[in-house]
Amino acid sequence: MLPILEIKELKKHYPVKTGLFGRVTGVAKSLDGVSFSVKKGETFAVVGESGSGKTTLGKTVLRLIEPTSGSILFDGTDITELGTEPMRKLKTDMQMVFQDPFGSLDPKWTVRRILEEPLRTHYKLPQEELLKKVNDILEVVGLTAKHASRYPHELSGGQRQRVGIARALILEPKFIVFDEPVSALDVSIQAQVLTLLEDLQSRLSLTYLFISHDLSVVRYISDQVGVMYLGKMMEIGPSEELFTNPLHPYTKALISAIPEPDMDKRRERIVLSGEVPSPRKPPSGCVFHTRCPHAMPECGSVQPEWLEVSANRYTACHLYHK
Ligand code: SF4
Repeated sequence: MLPILEIKELKKHYPVKTGLFGRVTGVAKSLDGVSFSVKKGETFAVVGESGSGKTTLGKTVLRLIEPTSGSILFDGTDITELGTEPMRKLKTDMQMVFQDPFGSLDPKWTVRRILEEPLRTHYKLPQEELLKKVNDILEVVGLTAKHASRYPHELSGGQRQRVGIARALILEPKFIVFDEPVSALDVSIQAQVLTLLEDLQSRLSLTYLFISHDLSVVRYISDQVGVMYLGKMMEIGPSEELFTNPLHPYTKALISAIPEPDMDKRRERIVLSGEVPSPRKPPSGCVFHTRCPHAMPECGSVQPEWLEVSANRYTACHLYHK
C-alpha cells in the first residue's frame, strides 16, 4: 500500500522571549526532526506524555501551525510549498477532530449550522442539498435528523463527539487527524466511539493520524505506532510488535505502566526518575538520557541516529548501534 502522508525532518521551533521587551533568548523545540509515513487506509498512532509535541505534530501536518522546516507530502504533493488557495482546497481532503467537542463546537449554533458551515465555506450548494447532506452525515455517525435542531449543550459528551466527527466527515476527506478524540469521554462511550471510527475507516477508506496518551486505546485502534518524547520520535513500529516487544527504553517504560489484569503477562513496572525536561532546554545528546535507566557515557553528548533495527522497526538509541 502506498503512503498517503510522508513527513520528513519536520521541525517547529518557537522563539523563547524573556524580559520586559521580549528579548529572544533561545528556542523551544516542539518538533525537532520528525519523520514517518502513513499508508492509505491505516491508522498511525502517535503517543507520548504531555509536552512531547504530539498535538503540535497533528496541527502542523494540517498546516494549522506553520512548520519551521521539513516537508509534508500529502498524496505526493509537498503541502508546505502550497499557497493559501490551493491549501484551502486541499483542506477538504484533510480534516481534524479535537479532544474537547464542547470546546470545539460553537455553543450558539445548532448542530445543523455547525455541519453546514464547512459546506458553505467550500461549495455553493442549494439549501435542499445542504439539508440532505446534514441528515445523511448524522445517520452515518449514529445520530438522527432530530439532532440537527439541537445545540451542543443539549447533547451528551458522546453525541457531541459524534457531531465533531460528522463535521470532519461532511467534506468527504481522505485523511483525518484525531487529537485525543475519546479521552474526555466515559470508558463505555469511548468504546462506542472507537468502534464507530473503525467502521467509518473501512466503509469510507479513510486514513487516520491518531494522537493519544492512552496506550490501551492506541493498542486497540492502531496499525502503526510512533512514540514521541521532547519533540522527537523515539520509536516507530507495527502496533502489536511494538506493544509485545518494545525496543526503546522510553517505550518500555510507557508500556510497563499499562494495567495488565493477566498476572502471566504482567511486566515489571519501570519507574522513570525525574520530570520531562522543558523543550526550551532539551538535554544534549539523547534527549531521554536524563531519565533513561540504560544511559551510557556517550548518551549525554552524542545524539543517537535513527536506525531500522529489523523490518519496519525503527528506533533512535545507542543500545542498538552496539
Ligand atoms: Fe537510553 Fe542512551 Fe538509548 Fe538514550 S541512547 S535511550 S539514554 S540508552
